[in-house]
Amino acid sequence: TAEDKRTLVQEFKLDPDSELRFEIESKNEKVYLVLKSGLAEVFGTELVKGKSYEFTSGAKVAVFTWQGCTIELKGKTDVHYVAKETPMIMYSNCHAALELMRISAEKDNVKGPVTMVVGPCDVGKSTLCRILLNYAVRMGRRPLLVDLDLGQGQISVPGTIGALLVERPASIDEGFSQEAPLVYHFGHKAPAANPALFSMIITQLANTVKERIEVNKKTKMSGVIINTCGWIKGLGSRKIVQRISSAIAFEVDVILVLDQERLYNELVRDIPNFVKVVLLPKSGGVVERSKSARSEARDQRIREYFYGTPKNSLYPHSFDIKWSEIRIYKIGAPALPDSCLPLGMKAEDHLTKLVQLTPNAGLLHHLFAVSFSEKDDDEIINSHVAGFVCVTNVDTERQMITLLSPQPKPLPNNVLILSELQFMDSH
Ligand code: ADP
Repeated sequence: TAEDKRTLVQEFKLDPDSELRFEIESKNEKVYLVLKSGLAEVFGTELVKGKSYEFTSGAKVAVFTWQGCTIELKGKTDVHYVAKETPMIMYSNCHAALELMRISAEKDNVKGPVTMVVGPCDVGKSTLCRILLNYAVRMGRRPLLVDLDLGQGQISVPGTIGALLVERPASIDEGFSQEAPLVYHFGHKAPAANPALFSMIITQLANTVKERIEVNKKTKMSGVIINTCGWIKGLGSRKIVQRISSAIAFEVDVILVLDQERLYNELVRDIPNFVKVVLLPKSGGVVERSKSARSEARDQRIREYFYGTPKNSLYPHSFDIKWSEIRIYKIGAPALPDSCLPLGMKAEDHLTKLVQLTPNAGLLHHLFAVSFSEKDDDEIINSHVAGFVCVTNVDTERQMITLLSPQPKPLPNNVLILSELQFMDSH
């Protein structure tokens, strides 16, 4: 009723250095946020006064103000409160330190700071990356975002790692603009599914990033911000080694450790001295996500890849393709016992072997990376991908498969690589 609607409009007056946090859980609920007066930002992106920002189910938002402001919320939130304790001053100091490194890089014509953010799951790693990138672009920098978070990454679909040039602050409701990202296919939700492949594509991505930085002066001085997968307690030293080797691959200058003293101490102990390691607190606002919320977020991400967001709808194409027109691969062959291996081959090598598949019903609902590679060999594993399609039907009689694709027929290449991730197209 009209009365209900009226009671759902709330106004908040925020003191300097405080933030309004809210969450929307209920499905189909919409909440509108308007800055009435003063200045405020959401994860480093400034709000435009009077503009209405829409948030939907799953949103967990903090509206922070350095100067104080008045905000209006319209609609039903599941949680909302004003917090006076935030780590924003420390995050902003980090930005200031990075900015000093950029200025000195500019003077000496060398590369700007490469920063890696690490920590457990759900401590605000992606959010901190977003804040640091936003502050950098707001100062005229053009940094690169590298996302190594396979499950909850901000680039392309889950199961990938990639890099994105950040030229504008993130949109408040949709994040960073995804123009021409550099994407490498891994095909699993976590590195443990194939560590050999994971480190191979990390090295590949790191090399490509290094090349790209060299040809773009502005980005070279601005540096790189690297987001990583959540560190799970108790998983031990293998993960540390992985962290350290990816840090080395990217020639990291600064590691920001969120919330975990133990990880911080281990890194200080094991990483070369010229890398600065900084421990930062997590924000009390960061919300822990359940397993089902994570899986829902992955689904949502894939849906958005094909169909866009309510504000920016996309219209994917659906078409049939003959089995004979494509070549389908997966990465990783079954292991052979050591005694059967050719001389000089390690038992781990099978994990990075390309295996051709005959189309079959088991491919249904799977995502496939469309490779850029023209060749038949390992180059397929090492090259970045054009994009993703989803198999929505397998017709064994007619020997055809139906694909959901962001682009109309023909595919940019006939080489498809299997991903473990699936998507049920309910449109
Ligand atoms: P991680 O990358 O470590 O898994 P995220 O940065 O994705 O963590 O944060 C987890 C969730 O918490 C996200 O939905 C994010 O929007 C939310 N969040 C982060 N900081 C805050 C905050 N200060 N107040 C409210 N929600 C927050």
